[in-house]
Amino acid sequence: QRLHPNPASRPALRVVARCRPLSRREEAAGCERIVELEAGLGRVSIRNPRAAPGEPPKTFTFDAVYDAGSRQAELYDESVRPLVDAVLRGFNGTVLAYGQTGTGKTYTMQGSWAEPEKRGVIPSAFEHIFTHISRSQNQQYLVRASYLEIYQEEIRDLLAKDPGKKLELKESPETGVYIKDLSSFVTKNVKEIEHVMNLGSQARAVGSTNMNEYSSRSHAIFLITVECSETGPDGEEHIRVGKLNLVDLAGSERQGKMGAHGERPKEASKINLSLSALGNVISALVDGRSTHIPYRDSKLTRLLQDSLGGNAKTIMVATLGPASHSYDESLSTLRFANRAK
Ligand code: ADP
Ligand code: MG
Repeated sequence: QRLHPNPASRPALRVVARCRPLSRREEAAGCERIVELEAGLGRVSIRNPRAAPGEPPKTFTFDAVYDAGSRQAELYDESVRPLVDAVLRGFNGTVLAYGQTGTGKTYTMQGSWAEPEKRGVIPSAFEHIFTHISRSQNQQYLVRASYLEIYQEEIRDLLAKDPGKKLELKESPETGVYIKDLSSFVTKNVKEIEHVMNLGSQARAVGSTNMNEYSSRSHAIFLITVECSETGPDGEEHIRVGKLNLVDLAGSERQGKMGAHGERPKEASKINLSLSALGNVISALVDGRSTHIPYRDSKLTRLLQDSLGGNAKTIMVATLGPASHSYDESLSTLRFANRAK
């Protein structure tokens, strides 16, 4: 079946684009802006700085676009909140931030916890979940959080006592795909989550000499499980479980370009592997006619198997830089996101 059965129903896959402001450095350097967003039309246009005079910009249309002045809360309320509501009803959901390093993936997913108006998707989702729980009357909730990363097709538990240990993906008929020995923390409020998140971020930094380079090459996945038990009118206890995957993907920049900065080719090809597998899975899902969805091609897609497609809801936030020097990467991000429609 098509993922967009009709425009009135909420599509299972929502693709939005977000463009960050020019950085101070780009402004100081007098960088030219080549990306325009039209919120009303959900349209992004990008101008090739090397274009012949009179050549029109390339345009792409998405479910929503968020320009440099957009607030974190706007993106959350309009695009993410309905997905988290579905998770609270027992569905699985995934939010993916895709884009070149330095375009706002981490800003979008985490932002700054300390400043409420800069809180990203992860803190806002917890705020939302705990508010929902505090208002519910006849249900019991259990919220668990795990934090892991995939680096060169190896999975590390960022909350483990020994975060250096590599974990294995397993599959069982009852639970589907899961990570053996992955730790999870029961959390009761946003403060506890912030603590968990900080522990994980510290673990992430350990052993990496250059944090920026490292985080641009690994996929960070914050996994939230919401279990709800309720006594039905029949007096029986019913349990619903929803899973929410919040994914800050590795930088999408072409590795040839990064190769100039000295990374090993093997590492480069493995980063590409997960991202291109993700692209293939999403286009197979969107196509709707594919009988085979290639989930097994990478750790990332295997892990997300029960949260991409089927009854699950997915949002991809494609992040862009506005400046002319990012033209090639921004165009490739827009094309990737466009495949997902
Ligand atoms: P990425 O995770 O994609 O490498 P970051 O999230 O670290 O990129 O963002 C790079 C820089 O740009 C950071 O300093 C961040 O604060 C800033 N930034 C990103 N997106 C926005 C935005 N929408 N509004 C304001 N600043 C942003
Ligand atoms: Mg980042």
